[in-house]
Amino acid sequence: MTDTRVNLLGLTRPELEAWILERGGKSFRARQLFHWLYKRGETDFDAMTDLAKAFREQLKAEACVTLPEVVTRQDSTDGTIKWMLRADNAQGFEMVYIPDAERATLCISSQVGCAMDCSFCSTAQQGFNRNLTAAEIVGQVFLAQKELGFKAGDDRMISNIVLMGMGEPLANFRNVVPATRILLDDLGFDFSRRRLTLSTSGLVPQMYKLAEESNVALAVSLHAPDDELRSQLVPINKRHNIAELLDACWHYIDEQNGRSVTFEYVMLDGINDSPAQARALARLLKGHPAKVNLIPFNPFPGSPYRRSKPEAIKAFLDQVLKGGVMATVRRTRGDDIDAACGQLVGKVIDRTTVRLGSKRIGVVAEGTEVRA
Ligand code: SAH
Repeated sequence: MTDTRVNLLGLTRPELEAWILERGGKSFRARQLFHWLYKRGETDFDAMTDLAKAFREQLKAEACVTLPEVVTRQDSTDGTIKWMLRADNAQGFEMVYIPDAERATLCISSQVGCAMDCSFCSTAQQGFNRNLTAAEIVGQVFLAQKELGFKAGDDRMISNIVLMGMGEPLANFRNVVPATRILLDDLGFDFSRRRLTLSTSGLVPQMYKLAEESNVALAVSLHAPDDELRSQLVPINKRHNIAELLDACWHYIDEQNGRSVTFEYVMLDGINDSPAQARALARLLKGHPAKVNLIPFNPFPGSPYRRSKPEAIKAFLDQVLKGGVMATVRRTRGDDIDAACGQLVGKVIDRTTVRLGSKRIGVVAEGTEVRA
């Protein structure tokens, strides 16, 4: 029998109000439910004591609060934690928690697999499996808090959320945007929009749409200063080139009254890491609300690239800064548990744990990245 109950974690507050009104309830119940769910981390309707008994019964019959299931959890010696989660019987995806002195960042996934086919990303090798639902996206944050030991009344344990895990968030616009609304809702998790970052490989039309419908912080995977190279690394560039992409970025910042776009730039030895390329990158971005985040490449079996040498990364950084553009290097975290991007390719989740009926979870490659 299929479960027809609605997972409340996927409903924005207006959607939840409408859902309650349709069932003859009062709209303020949505606020109460949001409080129980997101401020108190409660998933059991019977524990929601200020809800009328009849309403609780109705919820039990027609709604649920279902979190993604943990397949594995790995704790790194540096405090990074990586979870392999199960979306359904056959699908796996990942989430990474990265604490440091100033913040605690949760990196969440938006899709199982990815269709963008970037040549340096292991998730690309897995191909695209499916979009995550809004409930599965919000559910990751809910689950992470629970795994970290959150109790009602505690301060929030996650300060920053990055949609930088598996998948292209703007290719799953329909589910990602409502999920961001739930995460930002002041009666819900109440994350700051500056601390919720969506990273895209450059789906230009969806970036314009995002400017109308959301106000999260934006990161863009640039990775090359010219179209010829970018088209090799990030194939979507053949459809929307760098000039179009940058126009969409500046438009987004104008519309959102935002601070700046973060441009991710993976450092590939001998490919995109020369001082001349650094100067070209600075020329593209100078005078605009932009900062550059250099990501040392994380190799994976079969990948055709090598990580840039530390000296090359340092020289590149200096050139970008000299060119008048703010830049930082991302520290790799969770090395010992393969929590950095691109390290999981080819690993199949233990077959004994994943055999469910005749189905088996496929190869789960990692597209997550780890922010220092
Ligand atoms: N699809 C979105 C979200 C993924 S974010 C996007 O492309 O922005 C993950 C970041 O890690 C992206 O900037 C991606 O380009 C980068 N990345 C992918 N594979 C990598 C690897 N092997 N080493 C380092 N960074 C990688």
